[in-house]
This record gives sequence, structure tokens and C-alpha cells, in this order.
Amino acid sequence: MNLLNVEKKGWQSIAHIKKKAANKSAECKEKRLASIRTHQNEKRANESTECRETRLAGNRTHQNKERANESAECREKRLTKQCEYDQRNHVTVYNSSTTADEIRKFHTAVSSGPLYICSCCDQLWYKHIVTAAKKIKISNSDMVKYLLRKTSVNDVEWICLSCFRYLKKNKIPPFAAKIGMSLPLKPDFFDLNELECRLTAST
Ligand SMILES: [Zn+2]
Repeated sequence: MNLLNVEKKGWQSIAHIKKKAANKSAECKEKRLASIRTHQNEKRANESTECRETRLAGNRTHQNKERANESAECREKRLTKQCEYDQRNHVTVYNSSTTADEIRKFHTAVSSGPLYICSCCDQLWYKHIVTAAKKIKISNSDMVKYLLRKTSVNDVEWICLSCFRYLKKNKIPPFAAKIGMSLPLKPDFFDLNELECRLTAST
């Protein structure tokens, strides 16, 4: 092996070590950040509503101050970055939608009619107002007793978002059928579908 080869080998080794160190430091950084995130999540899970409000208000004030002083260039950069993030995560940017977009969205949302029965309040809802009742079985199984085990569209047990929020917080939904807030039984002589039946009962 001549001198040139030794030197070449030496340089390759240094480059290899540097590369390894860079990879290692990236790994360490990732580990450190993951640990910070876990700690922060734990802390936030235990914080009181008041503390959370104070923290968020502080964040907002800080952000407003920063934005008031930022240059046009920085603002442009920030908005581009935000836009990329939204696209990557499929976030719907409502600010940029027009009235026509909103009307179109509304028509799409209500196109299939209020056919979803909430298994808790027994009311009929549109698709975007309900979620699968099995979610409550997972998040708070103690509150399953307030469900009627009623299925509707696609033979799935649905729950409206309002009832879902109450049950998730261990609270009884104000319109839960199990506490007597159910519709009266349909008389046999009424030849009505689910929607007609509910509309007649509530007037
Ligand atoms: Zn409901």
C-alpha cells in the first residue's frame, strides 16, 4: 500500500466517522425531543382547566407580539410553511374558501338526509353530526348503559356528537332516551317513516 492509498483510506475513515457522528447526533436529538414531548403530554394531561387557559392565553399573547414585529419576508415564509403543513396533513383551510365552497360543502353534507339514529338521544341526524357508538365503548365503557343499542345506516350503532361529548366526560346527555327523554310510541294507524314520525312527534 503506497502513501497515497494510506492517506486516501485515512480521509475515508474520517468522513465515515463524521457521518456516523452526524447520524448519531440526529438520533440523540430525536430521542431527546421525544422525551420532551412525552413529558409535556403528561404534564398537560394533568393540568387544570384554569392552568390550561392561562397557558394558552400566554401563548396567544406571545404569538401576537411576535407576529406584530415580524418582517414581510418572515411572514411570507411562515405562511408558506403553514400552507405546506396544511396540505401535507390535509387540513381544510376555511379562511380561503368562498361562500360558494361553503354552500357546496353544506349540500354534500346534507345530501343523504337525516337517516342516522343516535343510539343515546334517539334523534335523527345527518352523517357529519354522528360518529360510531363503539368509540364510547372504548373511551368510557361505564357510560354504555346510556345507549339504546339501536342501529341504523349500514347496520351500525351511531351516536350524535353532542351525546358523545357528554358521555366521554362521564356526564349524562340532557336528551338521553334512558332518562325519559324519548319520543312517544308511534300509534299503529300512523303509516309514517322515521323522519315523518319524529317531525310529527315534536310538533
Ligand atoms: Zn344524541
